[in-house]
Amino acid sequence: MTAQEVVAVGQTPSSGGEVLLRATDVSKHYTLRPDGLARRRRVLRAVDGVSLEVRTGETLGVVGESGCGKSTLGRCLVRLTELTGGRVEFDGKDITGLSSRRLRPLRPGMQLVFQDPQASLNPRRRAGDIVAEPLLVHRYGDAAAVRRRVAELFDVVGLSSAHRDRYPHEFSGGQRQRIGIARALATEPKLIVADEPVSALDVSIQAQVLNLFADLQERFGLTYVFIAHDLGVVRHVSDRIAVMYLGEIVELGATEALFGAPAHPYTEVLLSAVPDIDDGTGTAEASRRERVVLSGEVPNPVNKPTGCPFRTRCAHARDLCARERPSLTGTASGRLVACHYPLAG
Ligand code: ADP
Ligand code: MG
Repeated sequence: MTAQEVVAVGQTPSSGGEVLLRATDVSKHYTLRPDGLARRRRVLRAVDGVSLEVRTGETLGVVGESGCGKSTLGRCLVRLTELTGGRVEFDGKDITGLSSRRLRPLRPGMQLVFQDPQASLNPRRRAGDIVAEPLLVHRYGDAAAVRRRVAELFDVVGLSSAHRDRYPHEFSGGQRQRIGIARALATEPKLIVADEPVSALDVSIQAQVLNLFADLQERFGLTYVFIAHDLGVVRHVSDRIAVMYLGEIVELGATEALFGAPAHPYTEVLLSAVPDIDDGTGTAEASRRERVVLSGEVPNPVNKPTGCPFRTRCAHARDLCARERPSLTGTASGRLVACHYPLAG
């Protein structure tokens, strides 16, 4: 199978739109300065050969432990960082090598929502000015038009436009994230990469913000790449989920298929850590699953294990796993898994 065919297998019938975003073998490696211990140049492989497609109107969840490369991948997808290798196509255009000048007209179409609105919103600017900024950058219109659009955006994200003169610290965490979302929506993007947008919020507020994402998607036909370290969070918003480990996708498939029967041992571990969800039937899912605990720590991405990156922590690892890196391959059930001995087909 070619890389293209492999990616196509990971599509579910529900994701019927055109391909809006396509990543092919994307890598981002950081060259670290030599330190006293290691005089050689060390290379940190933050993202290591990721291929995926996202169709218009779809949500692709991206999950994995902290440090596995989710944010770096998110920045690669919207070209906020240069790739070390591979290609990203957005809306039918190869954006991999575009200069910032050539990228500029495409920027409004792809926006990022950050994890921590406290850190990503300028504390010295008023909320209304923060939301207006992308409009001014992309020459939306005269002052009156910008003002109208800002009021509209406040309304869309459920904030009172009477609060546009307030500063970020005068809002609650959930409201601050709404400001971040309004700013991302200002230029009418097609794609939003949301990087752990609810991780910094109280659990009681998370559901409200997740519902807002869902409403906005329906209303504006948005396409999301939704990043989280918590599978429980992405489950509710994602059509498909990509599971990352040490910069690689180890499993990619429809959300329900993945929750129903994880194919990669790492997915199984992540799933077993999802707290019980009381679905009203009295059979909370996680309690039916056996809890699988990971041994050891995540290896350093500077010294990735040979063969399968997960093998040093995998309960099912055999000799082959140390010798050969498993490639992401389609299974009979239509998902992709990078494992020599998958748990499900
Ligand atoms: P995640 O978002 O999944 O927590 P990141 O993408 O932030 O992971 O980081 C992936 C890896 O890349 C980590 O090991 C991190 O330390 C490293 N990394 C991220 N940004 C840089 C950078 N600018 N320079 C060097 N290493 C980096
Ligand atoms: Mg991150």
